[in-house]
Amino acid sequence: MSLSLTTEVRMIKGVGPHRAELLAKRGIYTVNDLLHYLPFRYEDRIHFSNIKDIKPEGIYTIRARVMSGQAVRTMRGRDAIYHLLVQDATGQLPCKFFHGGYLEDRLKQGQLLVLHGKAEIDKMRPARIEMVNPQMELLSSVDHSAAAHEADKSAAQEEIDSTEVGRIVPIYEAVGTFGPRSIRRTIYTALQTLDPRMPDILPENLRTRLGYPSRFQALAQTHFPAAEESLEALNEFRSPAQRRLIFEEFFLYQLSLALDRRTARKEDAIAFRLREENIREALKRILPFKPTAAQKRVLAEIAADLEKPAPMNRLLQGDVGSGKTIVALQAAVVAIENGCQAALMAPTEILAVQHFLSAGRILERGGYRVELLISGLKSAEKSVALERIRSGEAQLVVGTHALIEDNVQFARLGFVAIDEQHRFGVLQRKRLMDKAAAHGHAPHVLVLTATPIPRTLSLTLYGDLDVSILDELPPGRTPIETHLTSEPHLPGVWGSIRREVEAGHQAYIVYPVIEESKIELKAAVEEYERLSRQVFPKLRLGLLHGRLSSEEKDEVMQRFRKNEVQILVATTVVEVGVDVPNATVMVIEHAERFGLSQLHQLRGRIGRGAQKSHCVLVGPVRMTDEARARLETMVRTSNGFEIAETDLELRGPGEFFGTRQSGAFGFHIANPLRDRELLEQARREAFAIADTPSQMSTLDRILSSLPSEWQRRYHLARVG
Ligand code: ADP
Ligand code: MG
Repeated sequence: MSLSLTTEVRMIKGVGPHRAELLAKRGIYTVNDLLHYLPFRYEDRIHFSNIKDIKPEGIYTIRARVMSGQAVRTMRGRDAIYHLLVQDATGQLPCKFFHGGYLEDRLKQGQLLVLHGKAEIDKMRPARIEMVNPQMELLSSVDHSAAAHEADKSAAQEEIDSTEVGRIVPIYEAVGTFGPRSIRRTIYTALQTLDPRMPDILPENLRTRLGYPSRFQALAQTHFPAAEESLEALNEFRSPAQRRLIFEEFFLYQLSLALDRRTARKEDAIAFRLREENIREALKRILPFKPTAAQKRVLAEIAADLEKPAPMNRLLQGDVGSGKTIVALQAAVVAIENGCQAALMAPTEILAVQHFLSAGRILERGGYRVELLISGLKSAEKSVALERIRSGEAQLVVGTHALIEDNVQFARLGFVAIDEQHRFGVLQRKRLMDKAAAHGHAPHVLVLTATPIPRTLSLTLYGDLDVSILDELPPGRTPIETHLTSEPHLPGVWGSIRREVEAGHQAYIVYPVIEESKIELKAAVEEYERLSRQVFPKLRLGLLHGRLSSEEKDEVMQRFRKNEVQILVATTVVEVGVDVPNATVMVIEHAERFGLSQLHQLRGRIGRGAQKSHCVLVGPVRMTDEARARLETMVRTSNGFEIAETDLELRGPGEFFGTRQSGAFGFHIANPLRDRELLEQARREAFAIADTPSQMSTLDRILSSLPSEWQRRYHLARVG
């Protein structure tokens, strides 16, 4: 059977119901979805390295056979280090796998492996070179015992599958138990069975003018590059095929912005009344403090938009702690006083709950009714909430993406604020806007972000938004003092935490992961237990990490807010928006593992009250110069934009947001920082088509060639 892009994945040979289910969990339903599950890295398996040529600190791909393997249990009994010895025709290489106990049953003498990793000097025996936790792929599952020991003569016959060796090989991330190697085979099969004459989304003349390959070629070459392709270019996402896919993603996104802008100009919104005495009174009544000059300016910019019968589309950028929330709540009050509902969408449940509590406190002064909608609600609570939203009884609805689900209907939604935009993927806000469009008018939209993006980039990225900037912190804050130290000094750090807590304050201790992923890495869970028992036995500690249920997270946060928990041991779940002004200390262990922008967000959790706050960054004793330079930036400045620029300079755009790819922005392959120039090109081309009346038929053709799920994804369905 030949496949088309819309065929379901379970029709591909080798994909059974179980794998189809795993894929569905990742949002992969069709052949088209699967073909956009792209390799994150490529390996040269034409030219393998010889073991004899391996030097410390180099990165190598070798093909070798298992000689022997042994799991050595650690004292706790569960974890094991697996010691593996492999050989090729030129020599032998020891490898070590932490948490490698499971390999004992899987690896057998004589099996052929591909290993990829960094060579290191064995710390116990400095004369020896080894690989620690290399990536491994099994090429043959059979035991070839005797013959195998004479190097590699029979290897060629075993390697029937041309996807595995003798080419540049794509490396995929596993999807649950659907391993990288099976994914590769499945994609290979799909490409083989697919009709290459698939419709091309990009108009032919555009494609020729810009020199991009066809859609089929681009997909085929991105998954299985030709041998002469540059490995370096591929690993930097610069091959022509990858560039075409990146361009395409930006192009559709920009086309969506362009069309929305065109529609928005024609769309009606409710022009709010703002000048009446009662509305001014209402706004004053809820203000718990005197607004800063920046807050006043921004509110005036927003007010001017709200008074117009066209929808506001505004981005509010402001560093952590600059007081964006109150500005959003004031706009919400304007909407409510004008007989509309308002919604506030947050990226995490913790943050939604916190906004719900603080918005509740602030709006209760005006007697407004605030509702919470998150997926963690019990179903009875949820139906009550949904009913109040439908009837209009709920005046401000605070929630997570539960707000954009189909079962949510507003009586009359007039204003939407979306906090911390980049975590959602830029296009999701459109769904919330549709909720209002359902009853005849578009809502006014305010997007709040603390992600410092250089201004030119934010203009391109959020191209359809006007930008307001809060560039002033509320008064009465003492700047946070940041210190850099190393692990041996931790006892002293614990001492100062004890003193702060005894003085009535609270502290955060932050770890990069929730369970040990490598032996040397301390984990929040284990450290929490150790700290509670040994270091702070007399204090009240709480633990917060991403794998807790939403009730558990909630409870810990509540207790921390009430000072029942004095020290919160946490992972990066506290990164966004958590607001406990009484917390004055933050210790971040393994600080060198975080991106600077992430450290900046974390640090923004303290220094929220009038007390002096301290942030302690703890690194290893020996650090690379680069790592030290990065952490010293944090000590030197607290300006988010400056920190972002330095991070960008030192680590390059790929690492900027601490994510491997573009997830932070919601793109598949494109990364606006890395691929800035393609973003600009795509914007020019998309706007040229959308804004030129004679291009209507081109536009029609693009839209009709889009797979239906992409019409939804890019919000391109309702035009044409
Ligand atoms: P962010 O911009 O990071 O979302 P928030 O809106 O959470 O900042 O505000 C940070 C803290 O500053 C909150 O505790 C808030 O109540 C307080 N705050 C905001 N504006 C002012 C102001 N004008 N004067 C005093 N405190 C303020
Ligand atoms: Mg905030």
